[in-house]
Amino acid sequence: MRPARHAASRDHDLREFLAHAGEPAYRLTQLLHAVYRRGVTEFAHMDELPRRLRDQLAARYGESVLTIRPIATQRGPQVEKLLFESRQGARIETVFARYRSGWTSLCVSTQVGCGLGCTFCATGAVGLVRNLTVDEICDQVLYVACRERVDSVAFMGMGEALANPHTFAALRQLADPAHHALSPRRLTVSTVGFVPGLRRLVEEHPRVTITVSVHSPYEEERARLIPLQHRFPLSECLAVLDEHVAATRRKAYLAYLVIDGLNDTDAHARDLARLVARRRRPELFHVNVIPYNPAAGVDAAYRRPTPDRVRRFLRVLRERGVRATRRTQFGDSIDAACGQLHARYLGDARQSTGSAEATD
Ligand code: SF4
Repeated sequence: MRPARHAASRDHDLREFLAHAGEPAYRLTQLLHAVYRRGVTEFAHMDELPRRLRDQLAARYGESVLTIRPIATQRGPQVEKLLFESRQGARIETVFARYRSGWTSLCVSTQVGCGLGCTFCATGAVGLVRNLTVDEICDQVLYVACRERVDSVAFMGMGEALANPHTFAALRQLADPAHHALSPRRLTVSTVGFVPGLRRLVEEHPRVTITVSVHSPYEEERARLIPLQHRFPLSECLAVLDEHVAATRRKAYLAYLVIDGLNDTDAHARDLARLVARRRRPELFHVNVIPYNPAAGVDAAYRRPTPDRVRRFLRVLRERGVRATRRTQFGDSIDAACGQLHARYLGDARQSTGSAEATD
């Protein structure tokens, strides 16, 4: 098995390899053209390159440029969940949604497991195994983009995206004109409030769409759902977001997971509306209301709210002038809802993977 290339991206590695082999600089451009314009990931089929070089590349990297390979797929109406395996055996879940309008969205994972321990989340119950590399994050997009058009990418799968330093380089690569050339507006990063990462995100990627998970307007209750609240209170996170929204006039999203009998009362909705009203530019905040989807490995006391309860929650918010919608959860039927991805595949991955270097 090949050693992991955690710190540097594949481009960097390929550039060095080609230079070492005495190849002209345009070979990398040709290779990137084959991968990102023609959707060819196997070296043998990169007709732009001389056969001799294709053989050398295959001998060095294996048959494909991809660092992950699909090992299972689950299909539901309008949604597909893909399970990938990295070269070191880590399992990674990715969710691809096709909307009726024709729009497509891919939800990628950024970590194997997660160390933040949100009590409603199956991934959190596993603990952090390791950060995904830049290539492992971007290859989730590359694999699908070679087969179907990907209109937008959300960093909402397994892991806290902003706790992985490789997320920032992955965002750069997805927006790079020589790669996927995705507009930053079509990239969304979701966070439970990892403030140092959020500060870096707004500075390095000011046009990327941001979603912050709120899940309760009350500090103590939020801390029971999201223990990170103890380290980085929501108020601190929203202060960073306020400044960003005021400076860029870009819309920001607040996610609210509605859990039956826990955070679904009218008082919760009213106080959430007050929280939004206190923002510097409240009209630029949008609340995504997400009915909780029970996941294996999570406390059975957390239950899905009734559709009536969700409708009422939304109504209370809207009556107070808050822009709010129920987020469509195509994944319900296959346990693929973003941010609540299933942990059942992770047990053996924990043993078979080491820790990644946390460098960018
Ligand atoms: S909700 Fe996100 S941040 Fe919280 S434990 Fe799950 S994956 Fe980690």
